[in-house]
Amino acid sequence: MKRILILGGTTEARRLAERLAPRADVTVTLSLAGRTAAPAAQPVPVRIGGFGGAAGLAAFLEVQAIDVLIDATHPYAAQISKNAAEAAARARVPLLAIERPAWEPVEADRWIGVADMPAAVAALGGTPRRVFLALGRNELRPFEAAPGHFYLIRSVDPVTPPLALPQAEYLTGRGPFDEAAEEKLLAAHRIDVIVAKNSGGAATYGKIAAARRLGLPVIMLRRAPPRTQVAGNIMAAGNVEEVLARLDHLLTSTAARGV
Ligand code: NAP
Repeated sequence: MKRILILGGTTEARRLAERLAPRADVTVTLSLAGRTAAPAAQPVPVRIGGFGGAAGLAAFLEVQAIDVLIDATHPYAAQISKNAAEAAARARVPLLAIERPAWEPVEADRWIGVADMPAAVAALGGTPRRVFLALGRNELRPFEAAPGHFYLIRSVDPVTPPLALPQAEYLTGRGPFDEAAEEKLLAAHRIDVIVAKNSGGAATYGKIAAARRLGLPVIMLRRAPPRTQVAGNIMAAGNVEEVLARLDHLLTSTAARGV
């Protein structure tokens, strides 16, 4: 029985756990950061909260005798991925990671690439606009520097305390969000610009497709460099099926070596 730790907080992590849960050759724990008040139900045991940096994660891997670490965190969760690479190297545990492919602009997309949140705020400009912020709760404060715009803000949990913005409307919701509903939402609030991350995947693409249909610009935060560029000990896979195939290969080869 091999012990697997999945670093999660994404659809892929849940899907991976669903696929591994019925297997008799592995036991799986899923780790969540604890950012959402009521996380989605998971098909395997869950542990919640930070590990205390790379050193804490390395200690966890050793104490729990983890055989394989899988980084299935969000593409913008750069710190935990860096920690995972460092901890896996320290604890000599193989590391598989999902590199969810980024969305690519297609004809009629009006994307404005920005490096970080202050640059996204600056890209809104000085003329009052109606802005849809589809960002994490912890990423919103920089927009307080631009109080002249109207903001529609959607997050999984309520934003508390609310932002110091005179014109803001809040929505809570958890993806997936479909294109038709997104288009309706944008039109109903007369949104004229969206600020988003290039998350990739289907669950949150609806707003991007809706923006294209409505001819709206999207201020898109650039991604961090791919995980494999940041550390050398990562076996990267593009999706859940690829991770499973790589995992099987790894389990077979370690069994053959009697590890
Ligand atoms: P982050 O900046 O990369 O990580 C900050 C710290 O949070 C880490 O150093 C670690 O604390 C803890 N942490 C993060 N993910 C963890 C996990 N799966 N299990 C245990 N501890 C974790 O991460 P973030 O961008 O705040 O994202 C937090 C979580 O939300 C991630 O699990 C990610 O998959 C999910 N998520 C993020 C986004 C996004 O846009 N960033 C979107 C959707 C979902 P210690 O150093 O104490 O170990």
